[in-house]
Parts: sequence; structure tokens; C-alpha cells
Amino acid sequence: MEIINKYKYFYNVKKEAAFTENKCQFCGSKEDCLEGIYFNQDNIDSVCLRCFAEKKAGVDIPDYIQKRIKYDPNKKIQELKYTPPIPWVQYNDWQVCCDDYMKYIGEWEQEEFIKVSENESKNEIEFFREMLNGDTLKKVDDINVLWEDLGYDTVAYVFKCSICGKRTVVCQSY
Ligand SMILES: [Zn+2]
Ligand SMILES: [Zn+2]
Repeated sequence: MEIINKYKYFYNVKKEAAFTENKCQFCGSKEDCLEGIYFNQDNIDSVCLRCFAEKKAGVDIPDYIQKRIKYDPNKKIQELKYTPPIPWVQYNDWQVCCDDYMKYIGEWEQEEFIKVSENESKNEIEFFREMLNGDTLKKVDDINVLWEDLGYDTVAYVFKCSICGKRTVVCQSY
């Protein structure tokens, strides 16, 4: 268990990462094996969290994600490289705030947005809109339609800045 939740950029790997029944290709273990498909790399099928922590495999971080960091990028990029991928198509689109990668805190449905917006005395749809990242927001015609689609064809991936506490949502529609 100690290995599971120690990631700087991923809050709850056990709950939010994708695991496979396939044996770890490095040690043969069947325990806590990350699903290789989300690495988007031909050479990875299954890697257990232990081997992953020992850096037997890492995630390729594309240039445009690397360039989001201005100060001391190498250290942060290395950290992200050895963070389990988020199970989605554009998993590498890690959000940045305060010149560091944000912490991925999980998939939210309407329920979570309502709960947190109530705590902050805000309208939930307005709250949701404020959290959307720029690229997602550009694609939105009607925020109410996107809101109603949460939990159906749209998934909301939520990130939180460890420094200032800002939250950002990336939506993926299928
Ligand atoms: Zn292993
Ligand atoms: Zn921040």
C-alpha cells in the first residue's frame, strides 16, 4: 500500500489508474499491474507499481507538455514520467499551474461538482464553467448541454494545483 499513493501528481492511483490482470512484463507479478495501453507505447503491456517505482518503465512526455514548465523543468518532467498515466485518450495532456504539473484528483460527475460548489456557495454550473480549462471551454457551445452530459458521454477529469489550490477540469466526450 505504501507505494500506491505517494505520487506527487496523482492523488489516488489505486482508485483512478487502470489496472490489468496481465502479468507484469518485468517481474511476472500479477499484483497492481498498470494497464500498458494507456502508456501509448508499443513496448509496454503491463507493469506493476513496484517495477514502475523502480523506473523499469516510464511514460513518454510529449514536447508540448514538457514546454509548459519554465523553471527547473527536468526535475518536474522526470517526476511526471514516472507517474501512472490517466486512463483516457489524451492522457498526456497534464495541466499546469504555478509552473508545476497539477495533481490529478480523479473523475467527477455532477454529484461531486454540486457538493463542492455548495461548500463554496456557488451555482454548480457556473462553478463547473469556471473550472474548465481553456481548450475545453473553446469547444463548448452550451455549458448546460455539457453539464447534462456528465456521466453519460462526457467524462470530467479534475486536477488541483498543490501550490495555490486552483482546480481545473478537462472534459473528454465520446
Ligand atoms: Zn513488476
Ligand atoms: Zn496554482
